[in-house]
Amino acid sequence: MPSASVITFSLALLSVAHFHVADLMSIREVSYNATAKKWDKQHAGNSIDEDEFSVSTLIEKANKNLGQEYDRPVIEFGDIAVPSGLQNADPCTARGCMWTKSSDGMVYVPFVISRQFSSQERSVIKRGLQSFSSRTCIRFKERQRERDFVSIQSMRGCWSFVGRRGGSQTVSLQQRGCVYFHVVQHELLHALGFNHEQTRSDRDKHVRIIYENVIRGQEHNFRRIDTNNLKTPYDYNSVMHYGRFAFSRNGQATIVPIPNSNVAIGRAMEMSPNDVLRINRLYQCRNT
Ligand SMILES: [Zn+2]
Repeated sequence: MPSASVITFSLALLSVAHFHVADLMSIREVSYNATAKKWDKQHAGNSIDEDEFSVSTLIEKANKNLGQEYDRPVIEFGDIAVPSGLQNADPCTARGCMWTKSSDGMVYVPFVISRQFSSQERSVIKRGLQSFSSRTCIRFKERQRERDFVSIQSMRGCWSFVGRRGGSQTVSLQQRGCVYFHVVQHELLHALGFNHEQTRSDRDKHVRIIYENVIRGQEHNFRRIDTNNLKTPYDYNSVMHYGRFAFSRNGQATIVPIPNSNVAIGRAMEMSPNDVLRINRLYQCRNT
């Protein structure tokens, strides 16, 4: 059972890891500040300070140390939950990980939101869920009796499985650190079957990964995946694109756009037109 391993893992961490997060965050911020000033001069509009609310910065902060205590990584690519034994996190290339289309052309994705969340947090989450309705045929709807559904909970970190897994599948949005509109969209895009933009099969034409700046042991976050790109262009503004400093061990860039290294990357505060297009193509929504 994929979800069982994740649940066990997260419960075990709850007691030990809660306080460490805040400490690690402040250490990280202090050590980055000097470098950030240099970057400000050279790369206006793309500094590490300004990356503070990028999807990947938020996710990385919330997920710090997640899985490091375990022999087997459970969270890969920053925030993708991988059932043990399954190394490649793209079940959509195999059959059956898409959500089913209804006869009315809509794709209903049943969800439940844990009672852990405050009404304010619930409204942020619901706004994220509803944002798919106006531009795609995805309809998140409160679960009634459906077998397969997304269970949105506040566990440790922000993470999701990729695609529909069958039965109840957790999307974790930790109350402190993950309940933001764009993070909600990001994690639900995983649940719909999408991977990170910088792991795309054609990413080497658009970004350079600077492994020497990556935290030791975190290199797997930058593995390339044989993705189905649905004839959409590589998109630096995708809400699925990580920021320039993702998993940096030294405050230096880990993802550098090519050929123009100054282009801003991974700063989306919402789904980009390409993110929307991809949903519509993968699910063959009628309005496109
Ligand atoms: Zn992600």
